[in-house]
Formats: sequence, C-alpha cells, structure tokens
Amino acid sequence: VTVRSKKKACTSKSLQSNNFFAEKLLSWFKTHQRELPFRKDKNPYKIWLSEIIMQQTRMAQGIPYYERFIETFPEVKSLAESDIEKILKLWQGLGYYSRAHNLHAAARQIVKDHNSSFPDQYEELIKLKGVGEYTAAAIASIAFGKPVAVIDGNVYRVLARYFGIELPIDSNEGKKYFKQLANDLLDKKYPGEYNEAIMEFGAVQCLPKNPNCKECPLQTTCHSFLNQCADQFPIKAKKTPVKNHFLYYFLILNHDGEIMVKQRDNTGIWKNLFEFPVLESQTEIPIKNLPSFLKKSLDIPSELKLSQRTIFTQKHQLSHRNIYASFIKIEPKLSLQFLPQGNRWVKTSEFHGLPVSKLMQNFWESSIWNKKK
Ligand code: SF4
Repeated sequence: VTVRSKKKACTSKSLQSNNFFAEKLLSWFKTHQRELPFRKDKNPYKIWLSEIIMQQTRMAQGIPYYERFIETFPEVKSLAESDIEKILKLWQGLGYYSRAHNLHAAARQIVKDHNSSFPDQYEELIKLKGVGEYTAAAIASIAFGKPVAVIDGNVYRVLARYFGIELPIDSNEGKKYFKQLANDLLDKKYPGEYNEAIMEFGAVQCLPKNPNCKECPLQTTCHSFLNQCADQFPIKAKKTPVKNHFLYYFLILNHDGEIMVKQRDNTGIWKNLFEFPVLESQTEIPIKNLPSFLKKSLDIPSELKLSQRTIFTQKHQLSHRNIYASFIKIEPKLSLQFLPQGNRWVKTSEFHGLPVSKLMQNFWESSIWNKKK
C-alpha cells in the first residue's frame, strides 16, 4: 500500500476540492447529525460547557454530566459563584479533574472581566483558563459565526485519511500544515456548521477503527479508500511510554465506626479530592511491609500491633499511566482522639457526599466494602 508522500500533492488537492469537500460534509451533516442537548441553540455557555466535558470523554458518558451541570448551573454566573467542592462532586467520575478546576476559574474570569457575557473573539476566548485553540475555535465559530477552523482528533483523522497526509500530527510541521489546510477548507459562510460537520463526521462515519467507507459520501475522492489504507492514518511520530503507578489505600476506622479521610493538596490530577490515607509508589510494595510504613507516616504508637487485609484491588487506566490500586483494611480500630494532622474522621454515611476520584467511587460502591464494613 502506498501512501502519499509529498505534502504539495495534498495541498494542491485541498485547494482544488475544498468546495466539494465542504459541500459533501455539510450535506452529510444535515441528515446524519446526532441529536445532542447542547446543539439545540448556539448559546456560548452551553457550547463551552459541553466542549470541556466532552474532552477525553465518550459522548454517551458525558451527556448526563452536561445535563446535570446545566440544571445545577443554568448560567455562567451561578457556576462562578459555586464553591469548588460542589463542582468537583458533580464532576465525580469524569476524570481529569483539572478540567473542573479550570471550568470554575474561567467562569469567574467571564463574570469579572466580561460582565458575565462570553467574549465573541477567538483572541479573548483563548485567554480563558482551560480554553485552548480547539475550544476557542469551537465557541467562536459555532456561537458567534467567526471563520476559525477547529482541529481535534476527529479532524486530524478525517483530513489525514482523505488527503493521505503522512506528516505526523504530533510534529510541529504537521500541526502547522493541518492548521493551514483546515482553515483553507473551512466554509467561511457557515463556519460553525462546517466545524460541527467535520467533527461529527469523524465521530460517526470516519471512525478510528472500522470507518464506514462503504457508505461514505467522500469515497470516490478519498485517498485512503482508493488505496485501502485508512488504518495507516493519521501518522504519529512518537508513542508516549506508559508508566506504572501503585496506590495503597488504608481503611482505618475508629471505635465510633467513622473512617479516616484526607483531602489531597492543590496539585496533580486528583487535586482537592478526598481519599483514604495512601502510600504512592512507582514500584510494587509487598503488602506485609505496609503497616510499618503506616505507623511512621501517621505517627501511630509503635506498640500498637497492626494487621492488614487487602479487600479490593483495581487497575485504572489513564492515557499514559496504569494505576494499580489496593484497598487495605487495617485492624484494630483506633481511638477517636487519634487523628494525624491533615486527616479527618467522617461517618461512613457522609462519605458519599464528598468529591472523590472514580477509583475511590468504584471502591465505595463495590459490594465488597458494603459487606465487610
Ligand atoms: S472513505 Fe473511509 S477513510 Fe475516506 S473519508 Fe470516508 S470513511 Fe473516511
């Protein structure tokens, strides 16, 4: 299978066929677009909220979150005025919690700097916390009709396959090239609709695996279809190595049946979320060594004999990290007065109300915990 190797060939094709390409996409979009709650109007707040929620999230998973956010915070002002714990609780289970923190910060920026109205210029939108080139282009074009092309994973894939572009999408040269091409192809009269169309086309038709080439309106002019090489595009230069991360969570109860929890600090992917006291390591640690660590880190009197029992283990996959989590029950129960700095005792019935990571949520909801508590 040959792939196109000269980017000039791709450029000339794009310039010749941009009207054809845009027209086909727009007409496909009219009949194939999914009915999505944030498409009902062109409200920039709703578009922004949906874009932030849907980043790194499947549509089916993200929609209920979007609906809950809109119901709780119908406008940007109410989101800005909320405390972060309420936002984190609503976000719970979506992962990549920095998005929730950015959502809050950007809402406050809009209230403070823009009198609670979204700016309509790309250059102003991109200054909002957590809003990158893609989201700024989506809001500017869909809500305000500005001619700025969006480029996300779907757009890279559709363009790379259709034009047979072999420049890596993660190289500087590739990024520049795709950006130029995307803007050349953009329908300047209907930029918002065109942007939605190409993203939707990537999400529904030109799928990462098994694209529906047989029923594709671009088939007769698509490089990948004509050369049967869709699986070779888009091209990436480097693979990010996947690292292992081991977490050992300690379930420590007091005589009143309360459980010890701690709020994470203001850094990392789970910042400000609640969890049990934890040992984190890049390598696996023998379970029998854990009580001595625990004694040291929580300052538990050395004469108290601790025993441990693993009650739940889970592998949690993030984009570049494998997380191996073990939940370890510690015996005996401790006295209520014993509370290391930074920790707190909470009633198990109150634990549900705290914002926690998906990992903690899975554990808490598991029947294992309910049976053994
Ligand atoms: S023919 Fe296949 S590879 Fe080409 S644009 Fe259509 S779905 Fe994508």
